[in-house]
Amino acid sequence: MENCIFCKIIAGEIPSKKVYEDDLCYAFYDIQPLAPQHFLVVPKAHIAAANEITEEHAALVGHIFAVIAELTKELGFADGFRVVTNCGEDAGQTVKHLHFHVLGGKPLGSFN
Ligand code: AMP
Ligand code: ZN
Repeated sequence: MENCIFCKIIAGEIPSKKVYEDDLCYAFYDIQPLAPQHFLVVPKAHIAAANEITEEHAALVGHIFAVIAELTKELGFADGFRVVTNCGEDAGQTVKHLHFHVLGGKPLGSFN
């Protein structure tokens, strides 16, 4: 999608520090990390946010979570991590392309 920063990252038009890529998704390190390990996983298809996920995306979302499990193992923090997706302005979503934050590498504390 035009003017979408994450579509541009996926297309290689904006540089990123790639963690992983396959036909369905792209993973890269967050430029403003909130934990020692902090990367984002995005579907290559432009979906604006979690509130646009339908049953048609079930396999894609399942695949992304399997990729997250594998990457956290490879990066050595599979024992404890947090997956977050912010949806909409009230949740602080700043990039309108669905993305899953994967955070770890330190005790993260309670969520609430
Ligand atoms: P959110 O606030 O949930 O929409 O998260 C957007 C995230 O994207 C933030 O954590 C930003 O630091 C991150 N971000 C924005 N631009 C880039 C970029 N060019 N490369 C990597 N991460 C980015
Ligand atoms: Zn996009």
